[in-house]
Amino acid sequence: MTMEERQGQKADLKSMSFDELAAFTASIGEKPYRTGQLFDWMHCHLAGSFDEMTSLSKALRAKLKEEASLQSAEPVQVLTSAKDGTKKYLFRLGDGSVIESVMMPYHHGNTVCISSQVGCAMGCRFCASTIGGKVRDLSAGEMLEQVYRIQALSGERVGGVVVMGTGEPLDNYDALVRFIRLITDSRGLNLSGRSITVSTCGIVPGIRALAGENLPVTLALSLHAPTQEKRERLMPIARKYDLQSVLDACRDYFETTGRRVTFEYALVEGENDSAADAAALARLAGPMGAHVNLIPVNPVKERNYRRPDRSHVEAFKNNLAKQGINATIRREMGADISGACGQLRRGYLDRDRQDPLRPEETEETI
Ligand code: SAH
Repeated sequence: MTMEERQGQKADLKSMSFDELAAFTASIGEKPYRTGQLFDWMHCHLAGSFDEMTSLSKALRAKLKEEASLQSAEPVQVLTSAKDGTKKYLFRLGDGSVIESVMMPYHHGNTVCISSQVGCAMGCRFCASTIGGKVRDLSAGEMLEQVYRIQALSGERVGGVVVMGTGEPLDNYDALVRFIRLITDSRGLNLSGRSITVSTCGIVPGIRALAGENLPVTLALSLHAPTQEKRERLMPIARKYDLQSVLDACRDYFETTGRRVTFEYALVEGENDSAADAAALARLAGPMGAHVNLIPVNPVKERNYRRPDRSHVEAFKNNLAKQGINATIRREMGADISGACGQLRRGYLDRDRQDPLRPEETEETI
């Protein structure tokens, strides 16, 4: 049995709810108060190893190492933007998979963008995360670990989380909901649900299920085109869940949760950036009070999509505003340290394949 296989068989403590952890504690013959200690070490002190859990006896720590895994993420690269302080992290997981997370310092606090899967199966044409397909889902613990490691490494408090990194969160539904419940647990990091955003390409059953969880999280829909035909050209998932059913699910999400939905709209030159597109988009966003977040598309080297120039982006936004739509242009964070959306991981995987020891890269590699 390889080390990875053994790790896979160990109890995944970080993904467990408090009650599940209590059952685990009992199963290894430990007293109930150990549950609170373990939960505290993992979710408040953000311990990266059992050895850090100094209020546990050495014997118990040894037993935990045998029976359980903390699913720790090891930072392999950290890049800091000289422009805006954005930090991008590449983490290596227990099975050797590499994932990408980003910390963005906003004036209202630090927000971390996490991945929900290793790779992605959704196939959006403009997105680098999907180029190698999906490798596997992340566990709730591995999603938490991205936030915890970033807070521990940077020494800065994380106030918000956006599940907008690599992967489709609603294609990993159970782990996502588990993650949200754990990160908002008052015995743990205790984030407010309102400071969490889940971004989806439009998995209708997932949107409907999330609305029923009684979690006040913000839903962001990656809309990207205002008609079925145009959306299909950019996003293969649109063939499975058509525009009308996705919009109906978003309206229901808004009505059930009272949380306004955000529409994400990557502007691609010549594809979805005309005045007619703006008018059609306004007709979709208006009735449900959706906020529109415009993202000039990040060029991906494997694709030939281009972003419209700045004045055109502004004009598109003004067009929406004239029709009463609340729209913002996403401020580009960390543009000097490899664009968003899986490009850092992509670059790392490419480089690894070609020349794993390129000397000029080692300075940033830890
Ligand atoms: N799968 C989820 C979350 C991950 S993608 C989703 O589809 O929403 C996060 C956001 O980045 C999505 O809106 C996605 O469409 C967008 N995105 C991906 N690649 C991009 C690129 N090259 N330029 C601009 N936005 C991009």
